[in-house]
Amino acid sequence: MLLENWEQLRKQLPDGVNLLAVSKGHPSEKIRYLAELGQIDFGESRLQEALLKFNALGDLKQIKWHFIGRLQSNKVRGVVQNFDFIHSVDSQLLAERISRIAVEENRTIQIMLQVKLAKDPTKGGFNPENLQRVIPMIHSLSNIKTTGLMTMAPINFGKEERRNLFGQCRSLANQLDLKECSMGMSSDWEEALKAGATWLRLGSSVFGYRPK
Ligand SMILES: *Cc1c(COP(=O)(O)O)cnc(C)c1O
Repeated sequence: MLLENWEQLRKQLPDGVNLLAVSKGHPSEKIRYLAELGQIDFGESRLQEALLKFNALGDLKQIKWHFIGRLQSNKVRGVVQNFDFIHSVDSQLLAERISRIAVEENRTIQIMLQVKLAKDPTKGGFNPENLQRVIPMIHSLSNIKTTGLMTMAPINFGKEERRNLFGQCRSLANQLDLKECSMGMSSDWEEALKAGATWLRLGSSVFGYRPK
């Protein structure tokens, strides 16, 4: 199952489009299995859960870990120490904090800025109108490399609205001269791909049903 899902998805992705295997809610053994087949990038959204997995998978040095969940300020150090990418940087204050702690920890981390392109009380993110203004400041921060934008569609959006929203994210990234767009999950990755995503964050379509 896992092998078929993963191979099937990979086959459909053109060069330059990356599959982030979102392993939250799934056990370390499944991560090990995919990592041994060649999957490098794994996404987690809760630090505590991820720390247990890092312990179990410490021998797999090739894995790149991506933090994709809402990042509370008291979790920044743990995330900076252990992850290579953060997709969910949703404010200037958070970017500054990540940078300061990355300097202290002598680490460099790749970040993507989460943008809020639709009204959705359940999700945070930068207001797209402010990004143009804050991006020079964010680029000037030490020990973080800002390479792209991340977005999510509200749950009630249909396919057309999703494609539209992802298209907006792509144009905004282009305007800001950012290469990466982290967008598209199991239910809408095809729309995201058509709109120019470079990172698809796929959980259930790779690992199957996620309990809780
Ligand atoms: C859980 C999660 C995903 C993956 O969701 P699926 O629908 O299982 O593919 C992607 N992005 C974020 C931010 C998530 O929290």
